[in-house]
Amino acid sequence: MTVEMFDSLDPRDDAVLASYPVAGEQEVQGAVERGRTAARWWAEQGFDGRKRWLLEFKRAIAADAQSLARVISRETGKPVDDALLEVMLAVEHLDWAAKNAEKTLRRRKVAAGLVSSNQAASVGYRPFGVVGVIGPWNYPLYTPMGSISYALAAGNAIVFKPSELTPGVGVWLAEKWESMAPMQPVLQVVTGLGATGAALCRSGVDKIAFTGSTATAKKVMATCAETLTPMVAECGGKDAMLVAEDADLDAAADFAVFGGFGNAGQTCVGVERIYVCAPVYEEFLAKLVTRAGKLTPGESYGPMTLGSQTAVVRGHIAAALKDGATAVLGGLDSVDERYISPVILTGVPEDSAAMREETFGPVLIVNQVPDLAEAVELANASKYGLAGSVFTKSKARGRAVAAQLETGGVTVNSVLGFAGVAALPLGGVGDSGFGRIHGADGLREFSAASARTVQKFHAPLNLLTMARKRRDMTIAAALLKFRHAR
Ligand code: NAD
Repeated sequence: MTVEMFDSLDPRDDAVLASYPVAGEQEVQGAVERGRTAARWWAEQGFDGRKRWLLEFKRAIAADAQSLARVISRETGKPVDDALLEVMLAVEHLDWAAKNAEKTLRRRKVAAGLVSSNQAASVGYRPFGVVGVIGPWNYPLYTPMGSISYALAAGNAIVFKPSELTPGVGVWLAEKWESMAPMQPVLQVVTGLGATGAALCRSGVDKIAFTGSTATAKKVMATCAETLTPMVAECGGKDAMLVAEDADLDAAADFAVFGGFGNAGQTCVGVERIYVCAPVYEEFLAKLVTRAGKLTPGESYGPMTLGSQTAVVRGHIAAALKDGATAVLGGLDSVDERYISPVILTGVPEDSAAMREETFGPVLIVNQVPDLAEAVELANASKYGLAGSVFTKSKARGRAVAAQLETGGVTVNSVLGFAGVAALPLGGVGDSGFGRIHGADGLREFSAASARTVQKFHAPLNLLTMARKRRDMTIAAALLKFRHAR
């Protein structure tokens, strides 16, 4: 039997890096079955045993971080330092998940309440079994590890389908696990294109953790619906940065450059829109343009990892200009086949495609607003709701605006701040998806809550019997009024 193969390419020059098998239904099924056996062993390790294994896994990744960073850099085209930063972040999360799973998920008592005072009530969390993880290419380690680390720590085995653009990162991870525990395939990888991901959704896994575009999430959800397989969806964004008139404009401009152009703008929680209060608009824009003008594609950030995204970026710039926007840095000429130089657009109408859709390229839109209230309103007008940021010297104001932004996360006076805080959940609302990875919420996302009552003594009022006494019912009805009708 010939195995169908696909190549992973270096997006800098399309050199073939390696070939990988396209896993079909049978291969995916086989991996899930092996995962099911491994999941039983993994569950038996208990919190303590899993913590030891995961910390060993963490040490093995950290010790070999440079080699992993090189794989990430080759497959995505991002600078190797950026790739190493990704490894650092992923390792922090793995460490946190390993150390906090027991505290978060061990069985704990809850108050049974007056009516059930004869019961000892507790809630525990059970692993689902096998979790299928489908990953994107933009942060091919950090992003899927946000699901993998937490799902493993919660006691599940993993079958990971990396993006077809970054299969080597997935294979590296699975091989690292295998080098530690060859007989226990708790973390396996299946390589392939979208169809392999669809096969994983249909394979009988107990949950799917999907990270990728909103359009694909809808297909994944439809496939999962066939078998009522639950899923968590981490999708795209159109994050807004709000700059108040009292903001530290140098800091805001620095963060805007990093959030907008870092990784060539291919960051789900990157900055795409900036709303600046009128009094400081010109000054902020000047600072931003100066900083962005110093970036060099190919050094400051890599090429577009997904070639076809270039057309989307070009399309958004063209649409914005046609809709009346001004390019204050770069423009359509900034887009070449692989690399895109920084583009800053101003005065982009709110209904322009560039404003409404995820651009996922090194393009920043900077629009003037009369005040923060309008900035909040415009930021919230997006169908996406992943994250957002606000810059102001007043902490109270920062908190107040943060509370008004309808997103999964907000940073005050920085961007992407939550990504490195392992205790914080990550996820969005609306078209940005649902469910949460990272933190205690991430551990629970990969666990089934299990309710338990243990009867300590017969209920003084026995209402759960077919031989209910009139007296008990009369007292219960009186109690209802006394406790809740006042
Ligand atoms: P994508 O949707 O094209 O692909 C994601 C994954 O889905 C890939 O592994 C792909 O092979 C697989 N897939 C494709 N079709 C499938 C199908 N029918 N069934 C099952 N799986 C299928 O996304 P991408 O281009 O790899 O990633 C970029 C997107 O990811 C951007 O929109 C970005 O904002 C988003 N993203 C979100 C987060 C987050 O945490 N919210 C993080 C990183 C990236």
